[in-house]
Amino acid sequence: ATPTALLVGTGRGAQLGILIKGPEVLESTRKADTIVLDKTGTVTEGRMTLTEVHVAEGEDEAEVLRLAGALEHASEHPIAQAVARAARSDATVEDFANVEGLGVQGVVDGHAVLVGRPRLLEEWSQHLTPELVEALEQAQAAGRTAVAVGWDGRARAVLVVSDVVKATSAEAVTELKRLGLTPVLLTGDNEKVARAVAAEVGIDEVIAEVLPADKVEVVKRLQAEGKVVAMVGDGVNDAAALAQADLGLAMGTGTDAAIEASDLTLVRGDLRVTADALRLSRRTLATIK
Ligand code: ADP
Ligand code: MG
Repeated sequence: ATPTALLVGTGRGAQLGILIKGPEVLESTRKADTIVLDKTGTVTEGRMTLTEVHVAEGEDEAEVLRLAGALEHASEHPIAQAVARAARSDATVEDFANVEGLGVQGVVDGHAVLVGRPRLLEEWSQHLTPELVEALEQAQAAGRTAVAVGWDGRARAVLVVSDVVKATSAEAVTELKRLGLTPVLLTGDNEKVARAVAAEVGIDEVIAEVLPADKVEVVKRLQAEGKVVAMVGDGVNDAAALAQADLGLAMGTGTDAAIEASDLTLVRGDLRVTADALRLSRRTLATIK
């Protein structure tokens, strides 16, 4: 191999937003036939977003968000952060309290507000209307998280939060398939959520409910089947699997552990750059030969 062509390849990589550990990495890029994609933070944004608001008959959505948003502003729970971010409420909160494992309560602009599991509202005799129960059950069946909102003795709304798929993920999967790779979605999350995300981006193979320590075993198993495995991940729990993979790619937006364990880093955390990286290295190797 002529080192010049390899260096041109790595220099071009930097322009594309790809950091390459060393020129020798390019060789494994060419052979990969399977690409394992971590779900949370890689295919999805990795944080909760408020995606649906269902109000009971006669209730006002803006008021629901104003009261629930102010209360959730005081909580650090990921659900709370999603609600607070979406609501941007400046209502004042008094007597805030976390109800362990159930939700939060407090007085917002003079109203006694509850946000959390339906059980929390039931404890205060705030019963969900049939339409709210239906909204809640539908969200859960789709693998989403739903919480109820009530105040002054009545259940008022159901809020649905979910970790949304990145806008670029579906396009990235299409490109990876076009390059001849088989994508596999790998996650510790439940099967239902994983299937929903896979369907949204066009992945057929799903390996879900995998304990963090077992991600590396999944990669080993695929290799034992004769596959040459590339893997993209972002978390501490992905590091061992990224190191085990024939080609490890880390999201630049991810943890240091993932970046250190990887051969390539996608600086902007855009999955489409994975396809760019594979194309670049194939071209670079073709130049050498
Ligand atoms: P987890 O978030 O892992 O489910 P928690 O014990 O923190 O476990 O919360 C249990 C449930 O209580 C949550 O799933 C949610 O339904 C409800 N909950 C807890 N905190 C909040 C909050 N700040 N806002 C809304 N719901 C909450
Ligand atoms: Mg992750």
